[in-house]
Amino acid sequence: MRIVLLGAPGAGKGTQCKRIVARYGLLHLSSGDILRQERAAGAELGKKAQSYMDAGTLVPDQIIVEMMVCVIKKSPETGFVLDGFPRTVNQARQLDQSLACSRQKIDIILNLKVDNQVVIERLTGRRSCPKCGAVYHIKNLKPKVEGICDKDGTTLVQRADDNIEVVENRLKVYRQQTKPVVDYYKNSYVVCDIDANRNADDVTALVFECLDSLVEV
Ligand code: AMP
Repeated sequence: MRIVLLGAPGAGKGTQCKRIVARYGLLHLSSGDILRQERAAGAELGKKAQSYMDAGTLVPDQIIVEMMVCVIKKSPETGFVLDGFPRTVNQARQLDQSLACSRQKIDIILNLKVDNQVVIERLTGRRSCPKCGAVYHIKNLKPKVEGICDKDGTTLVQRADDNIEVVENRLKVYRQQTKPVVDYYKNSYVVCDIDANRNADDVTALVFECLDSLVEV
C-alpha cells in the first residue's frame, strides 16, 4: 500500500503515521525527519536545508524530490506512507513520474483537515525528546516530570520552528503552496478528507476506517 498523508503543519501527520506503519507494516517516510537527521549528522544536504527550515519556508523542490525518490526506491514491497511530501504541485507531479517509471502509483491520499487556531496551540506547546523522539505537549500530553522525557530522562526541547512567528509563516506557506496539492490529487486519486481537529485516537479511528476499506488486516 502506498499512502500520501497531507495536512497543515500540526495536523498530526507524524502521530498518525506512526500508528499506520504499526498496523499495516509500512515504511514511514517523513521528509522533515530525514532533513533533521541530515542536519544533525552535519551532512551537506542538511546544511543546504538549514536556512529554509529555520525560517519555516520550503526547501527547493529539486533537493527534496531527489532525496525522497532515493528513499522511496529503497522501500520494501509492503509499501510506504509519505509524511510531509509532496508539499508543492511540482513535487507531486515529479513523484507521480518517478513512480510511473517503476509501474507504481499512490493508492490513497489521506487529507488531515485542521483549523489554524488548533495548529497554533498544538505546535507552540509541543516538546520532544532529542534522544528518542517521543513527543509531548505542555497542556495536553504532559510528561510525568515537567520538561523531562518519561522514557529516558532526557531534557525535552522545543523545535526551533515551533515558535509562534515561524508557525504562522509555515501556515501561510501551507495555504499558498501545499493546499493546491490536495486539488491536484482530487483530480485523479482517491482522497479521504479527515477531521483532524479531534483528538488523536478519534482521528486514528477515521484513518483506519479509510485504510481498512483498501486492505484486509
Ligand atoms: P516538517 O517536519 O514536515 O514540518 O518539516 C520541517 C521543515 O522541513 C519544513 O518547514 C520545510 O522547511 C522542510 N520540508 C520538509 N518537507 C518538505 C518538502 N516536501 N518540501 C520542502 N520543504 C520541506
